[in-house]
Amino acid sequence: MERPSFYLTTPIYYVNSVPHLGTAYTTVAADALARYRRMTGYDVHFLTGLDEHGQKVAQAAEQNGMTPQDWVDTIAPKFLEAWKLLDITNDDFIRTTEPRHEAGAQQFLQVLKDRGDLYQGHYEGWYCLPDETFYTEDQLGENSTCPQCGRDVQFVKEDNWFFRLSAYQDRLLAYYEEHPDFIQPDTRRNEVISFVSGGLKDLSVSRTTFTWGIPLPFAPEHVMYVWFDALINYITAVGFGADGTPTFSGPLAHYWPAQYHFVGKDIIRFHCTIWPAMLMAAGIPLPEKVFAHGFLLTKGEKMSKSTGNAVTPASLVERFGVDAYRYYFMRDVQFGTDGSVSVESMVQRYNADLANDWGNLVSRLFNMTEKYCGGVVPAVPVPADEDQDILRIAAGLPDAYELRMQSLDYAGALEAAWELIKRTNRYIEDSAPWNLAKADETRGRLEAVIYTALESVRIAALFVAPVMPNTSREVWRRLGLGDIHDVTDLAAAAVWGGLPAGSKVEKGEALFPRIYEDAE
Ligand SMILES: [Zn+2]
Repeated sequence: MERPSFYLTTPIYYVNSVPHLGTAYTTVAADALARYRRMTGYDVHFLTGLDEHGQKVAQAAEQNGMTPQDWVDTIAPKFLEAWKLLDITNDDFIRTTEPRHEAGAQQFLQVLKDRGDLYQGHYEGWYCLPDETFYTEDQLGENSTCPQCGRDVQFVKEDNWFFRLSAYQDRLLAYYEEHPDFIQPDTRRNEVISFVSGGLKDLSVSRTTFTWGIPLPFAPEHVMYVWFDALINYITAVGFGADGTPTFSGPLAHYWPAQYHFVGKDIIRFHCTIWPAMLMAAGIPLPEKVFAHGFLLTKGEKMSKSTGNAVTPASLVERFGVDAYRYYFMRDVQFGTDGSVSVESMVQRYNADLANDWGNLVSRLFNMTEKYCGGVVPAVPVPADEDQDILRIAAGLPDAYELRMQSLDYAGALEAAWELIKRTNRYIEDSAPWNLAKADETRGRLEAVIYTALESVRIAALFVAPVMPNTSREVWRRLGLGDIHDVTDLAAAAVWGGLPAGSKVEKGEALFPRIYEDAE
């Protein structure tokens, strides 16, 4: 039987920046969902990549004395390195300078032109170069600056090609109405609906004042507007236009429409108005969901390169480890809203949840297994009354976790896993194996308690794995089990009793050694 496909994307990141906490946040979240969907039997296709065109890139290249292509070629490896460091399992990495994208993007523009949605016109207006975004006079912010970033805008006057975006206003509003899940969360959906209800203007989609971009196939003196170019990556990456025709064969037919576009809330309008209108114009189905997450804030400031914040993903991974890094951002910030992050709260979260709860459970339990059971998993017991609560939580975990992941509530999903972890810690306290070990007549109960706790740890590791892949794999390895990442039927793997009696358990080092803030 063919597995259902699950295509998810991050935005393609702007090549003039380096990977920072914000881009890492989106990418880790997408990776956790990709891993989870692989564990639940989907044929996952996880795409990320780079947005490499535009005037700003050309300028940066010039400042660095390089050609634009050489310039972007020096940046791309930094992103690949960062995603490797964060254990990102993307299936593809698209760069908009690749021939497969350029050919597909040209095909796409040709389709729009053939269907009558592109026309030649004259553009006069304001342009924010850092954001590569056009504004009309009345959209400008205070002192005639960019309403998005507050920087100076420049007056632009050009003969351009235009996309008939205004013609899609009613169809877009009808689509939002008929597909209430299309834009998430609801605050963003309301924002987009009110924006579109206010009226859409046709969009200039070409430039003639610089050359670093994809030439329009029917007007090669024009290069494509960088946002238009970038959005098309979601279909060129799965083969749109690859064979020289805008067909729906091969991987495109298999993976499209995408289940999710993950985006930051600052680019929601591009993804929820321009992109769906482009797809409608081309006669291509729309993605199922666009999910906009919030900003990471440090002391109320948006954490970005421009605020000069020196904390990088690499520096935090070095200090906390990759799993703890991933855990912190998925657990401490509710996905979809802004969240404050700090090294202090990361230390607290690490010590409380990872060192004390999860790490401590594994280490004391595996030690006791060695001490009381010779490091061997005891026989599968008949559950006693005292064991029922653990069995109940474990049995409910697959549904509880799934429910939360369906709304990308990572914090809630992890909390569900933690309910089992915390309950198992309490179970060990209440059962006191160290007392049961003192007499022969309680030997049976001792073994039952050890088995129950070990089996609970085996199951918990499954649900922790999408966010913390390395430590979960290590827990399974120490339990003498196979690679946890081979699991493709999570519900079946989580059925109670899966831990075979007789398996050899290895104690190992502490998974999350306590961090003392004073030591820094
Ligand atoms: Zn701006």
